[in-house]
Amino acid sequence: MSAEKITIALAGNPNSGKTSLFNALTGARQHVGNYPGVTVEKKWGTAKLGGREIEVVDLPGTYSLTAYSPEELVARNYVIEDRPQVVVDVVDASNLERNLYLAVQFMELGVPVVIALNMIDVAQSRGLHIDPDKLSRLLGVPVVPTVARRGEGVLKVLKAAQEVAQQKTTWSPVDISYGQDIDDALKQLVASFNGQESAWEPLSPRWVGLKLLENDAEVIKKIAQDRELAADLETLRKKLYQHITATMGDDPEGVIADHRYGYIAGLYHQVVTESRQKRIEASDRIDKVLTNRLLGPVILLAILYGVYQFVFWASETPVVWFEEFFGWLAGAAEAIIPAGLLQSLVVSGMIDGVGGVLGFVPLIAFMFFAIAIMEDSGYMARVAYILDRVLRHFGLHGNSVMALIVSGGISGGCAVPGVMATRTLKDPKARLATILTVPLMNCGAKLPVYALLIAAFFAAKQAEVMFALTLVSWGLALVAARILRWTLLKGETAPFVMELPPYRMPTLKGLLIHTWERTWQYIKKAGTVILGVSVIMWALMTFPGLPEEQTAKWEARIAAAQSQEAKEQLSMQMAQAEVGHSVAGRMGRALTYVTAPLGFDWRTNVALVGGFAAKEVVVATMGTAYSLGEVEPEEAESLSSRLAKDPAWSPLMAFALMIFVMVYAPCFVTVVMIRRESGTWRWALFSMAYTTVLAYLLALVVFQGGKLLGLG
Ligand code: GDP
Ligand code: MG
Repeated sequence: MSAEKITIALAGNPNSGKTSLFNALTGARQHVGNYPGVTVEKKWGTAKLGGREIEVVDLPGTYSLTAYSPEELVARNYVIEDRPQVVVDVVDASNLERNLYLAVQFMELGVPVVIALNMIDVAQSRGLHIDPDKLSRLLGVPVVPTVARRGEGVLKVLKAAQEVAQQKTTWSPVDISYGQDIDDALKQLVASFNGQESAWEPLSPRWVGLKLLENDAEVIKKIAQDRELAADLETLRKKLYQHITATMGDDPEGVIADHRYGYIAGLYHQVVTESRQKRIEASDRIDKVLTNRLLGPVILLAILYGVYQFVFWASETPVVWFEEFFGWLAGAAEAIIPAGLLQSLVVSGMIDGVGGVLGFVPLIAFMFFAIAIMEDSGYMARVAYILDRVLRHFGLHGNSVMALIVSGGISGGCAVPGVMATRTLKDPKARLATILTVPLMNCGAKLPVYALLIAAFFAAKQAEVMFALTLVSWGLALVAARILRWTLLKGETAPFVMELPPYRMPTLKGLLIHTWERTWQYIKKAGTVILGVSVIMWALMTFPGLPEEQTAKWEARIAAAQSQEAKEQLSMQMAQAEVGHSVAGRMGRALTYVTAPLGFDWRTNVALVGGFAAKEVVVATMGTAYSLGEVEPEEAESLSSRLAKDPAWSPLMAFALMIFVMVYAPCFVTVVMIRRESGTWRWALFSMAYTTVLAYLLALVVFQGGKLLGLG
């Protein structure tokens, strides 16, 4: 340790006891002056610890670190510009929630902090029991209970400050989540710093971005002086500001503040046990019910079931319209394009393939709408809060909950952002366990597969089956996580603050924008990736054609047939022979040696192989395969009714297939993301291997077990 002089700054809300602490630390060694240019009093002095002198500055009292008042600005600028080694935040323990607002802002800033939990005597007399150690663990900073007026704990504060000054020489801001919209906006702002970050040190780009969204006049002014940054950032800031204001029905400052309070509310719940009647806000009162230990989970399940009921009910009619439209489109294409390869490509490869995926757009949109309501109202945070209690027992970090939900914990997410969401997990083992389990969730790409099979085989019990699939995927994810945490990824679960932002009434506009953003992603993916893979699958199911002499034989037989009916019968058999001869046909058939015990036929096998590219492809490939086998379908028939009629299929096999699709290898993009986030191919390959083996075993148990029970 160098002999460099340490400076500590005392900050805190007015009347939290800063000056009392300052006096206890410095005694008579005090100076008073003014901060340059403003009429804010500056007090500084020296404290002694083990013969060494420590400079102490008493900052003006503030509630916040915004740039609204001269006191706040002085306190903030002093910390940023004069860079004391440590900020001692004097927190009034009897008024903890309000006082922590400033503490959290220091943590966002990243300056090394020690919390003096002052007025602990007052808190105690009011029946508030605060656990300082837990608070310290959750925030990752030392917390020292003090009674500054009597000098109690003062020496401990000084020692803690000295230790922090020695250990934490760089600033490390905490990343609080401010909700999807703000987090996304921050990411964009941070990205547009490209390479200019160092000029702002010790401030992090995320903090600067946060201040920009909060409309912080001081930071906006500073950015304006940086010509390189100003142009890009200012336009981006205005755009993001408007987007957030439009979708949330509130300005970003409000949303950010809500999330800070949410973070604090989560903290408070964990560290304070109160025996005294406290003012209960509306939000708290709702939470008494919705996050109740017993009632909470029951309500959550009921809401989930209700959501599925609603989604299937609301989408029933529009899905039929979409199917009819694609049937009509296929018919039109057949009429316009002469029979041959091109017709087959357009009708079977493209329209019957991608049409199957796009047919479910209404269902997907309603699902996203329901999710948007849960998110925008603040209920999703409660879902995470409730599940957090469960997940702890399975060795998962509370942060894993959000990753699992994002990935499709409530059907309709995506594992790619889910895997990325694990970045907030600091513990590498818990993080890896989460990364390896999020692909088991029911992402939006699995939804059309479920919807197709549910429509074909479980039409009377749609919501029930979807609900069961959700429970199965959570069950599997938790068991998988538990096993991983007992074996390959052993370790303790770190403490975690679960955010509880206050409830909000969602705005219709915000809901529609959120629904549309996600639905559009689904449509775009169907029109690009899925279409491309569909065409490849079509080619694999078309080439090579039958050898010439065989084609000739078939044609001769067709020509020789007596009735029109016999001719059609033979043409159909020829078409099926062609598909069977194709690359995919042979591959699919070869795979039946493996999949026969699961009940899967060759078409399903091909679809599952294609599904590795993206799980929607399972539906698209099925559509193409059934379309190729048909010759001149009399009338457009939906894929689900084709499946329902096929004797190779049964409800039991369909259920086994849904389980298989849920569990088997994550899609290609997810695997690449797992590789990137875990740092090695080893884990990416492992994720494919264990899920596929698990999928096989589960489908086997379902199919064979079901048969034994006489269900098939
Ligand atoms: P400042 O505005 O943050 O500088 O707060 P002060 O140090 O001026 O304290 C405000 C009031 O709280 C004074 O009356 C102090 O005597 C009192 N006070 C300070 N610390 C404590 C404490 O730990 N317990 C109690 N009961 N009173 C305190
Ligand atoms: Mg004072």
